[in-house]
Amino acid sequence: MPWVKEPICHRCGRSLLHKANVCRSCWKQDFPLQQVRASLYYREPLAGVLHKMKYEGLFALAEPLAEMMVAAWPDWEPTPDEIVPIPLHQRRKRRRGFNQSSLLAIGVSDQVEISFNEQALMRTRHTVPQVDLSPARRLLNVRGAFTAVAHQVKGKQILLIDDVYTTGATMSAAAEALIASGARGVSAYCLARTV
Ligand SMILES: [Zn+2]
Repeated sequence: MPWVKEPICHRCGRSLLHKANVCRSCWKQDFPLQQVRASLYYREPLAGVLHKMKYEGLFALAEPLAEMMVAAWPDWEPTPDEIVPIPLHQRRKRRRGFNQSSLLAIGVSDQVEISFNEQALMRTRHTVPQVDLSPARRLLNVRGAFTAVAHQVKGKQILLIDDVYTTGATMSAAAEALIASGARGVSAYCLARTV
């Protein structure tokens, strides 16, 4: 499997050619996430396995994939209080039958003993799939798509979990909603990242 290896940016987790604290883009711009990490790069054989889980209904694959996320568990500063999956809009969840991020998050939560909270964050606006959109379009597509529940998140350090990290637009929109509802801080952990 294509594991993510050091050196990486301490903030966004992007791989770096040389050891440095943060990458150029994190140095230049503000980012609502404290740390972003991924276990693997989105390449074969992982990409095919993930496709089988998401689109061919083999959701039992979530268990070994969550184990890989636990095997590559990073140091979080500060330690998360709760694990929150990136929600799907109800319409898409009904069509697919499950939320792949929740399945991964449940598997991780059980093993690292951090509680799982699926009530903290909702997808209140239906969005078109991000896959075919440019980075700028992705930001517009997900902006304001999430709503967080204040009494679920107030004062908590949240760890968001999703399957694939591409431009960070989805994670940033979710983090902004959590922070607006009083979360103390938000980091993100994904199974795979594209860069
Ligand atoms: Zn960075």
